Amino acid sequence: MNIVLIGAQGSGKGTQAELLTRALGIRHLASGDLFRQAFDERTQLGIRARAYMDRGELVPDEITVAMVLQRLADPAYASGVVLDGFPRTIAQAQALDRGLQRMKRRIDFAAYLDVPRDELLTRLSGRYICRAAQHVYHQQTRPPRVSGICDVDGSELYQRSDDAGEAVQKRLDIFFHETIRLLDYYKNQSKLIETNGNQHVEQVLADLLDEFRLHMVNSKRSQYWRGLSMQSNCG
Ligand code: ADP
Repeated sequence: MNIVLIGAQGSGKGTQAELLTRALGIRHLASGDLFRQAFDERTQLGIRARAYMDRGELVPDEITVAMVLQRLADPAYASGVVLDGFPRTIAQAQALDRGLQRMKRRIDFAAYLDVPRDELLTRLSGRYICRAAQHVYHQQTRPPRVSGICDVDGSELYQRSDDAGEAVQKRLDIFFHETIRLLDYYKNQSKLIETNGNQHVEQVLADLLDEFRLHMVNSKRSQYWRGLSMQSNCG
């Protein structure tokens, strides 16, 4: 199963992606993590991407698409993936469809986590992330047991440079002006699932899993009806 998670910054995409990978036994691929990893390793691509990230801008498609498709071609992702942060533009979505088609795969669902903008700003301004594995905490709503230390792996917590100042507003503007257009793109392919992301983490996950099940039953049913009508046309 290949899933695209669509949501603004702070909508809980990363958290839900992690939970979904465990629930469905598939891999998590976050484009932002790929860039941060490339920067930590001081690759040319990582250093080029960093300048855009610090300004809160999208990294150009030619870098982003190649990087994600290359990773998706890794056999580890063959049995399914939750894509988090990619695609963010129609051009990226089209490139993804073409790339997957070449691998004889396809996107099954695109799930949108809907959260109001003022809630997103509150979440982002208190967000802390661990260095080792990007586990997410929040000053008020989800503080770590020991201040500044990740509960899960003991690594240091830090605030992302693009979670403060003008970069936050710019990232949200890009989401609500550009990335939001993906909803129509996937609706036209009958793959869109819209979920209320402004609920407890467990409830959002339960809603997503319910919607996936329903969608699969419906698509099996429509395949069944299509099969029947083809039989009757032939007969
Ligand atoms: P967020 O979604 O909170 O902005 P991410 O970690 O997903 O955080 O991404 C961090 C930055 O990486 C983005 O602001 C952008 O500069 C870059 N980036 C990530 N994914 C993409 C993408 N699909 N296209 C272009 N740039 C991207």
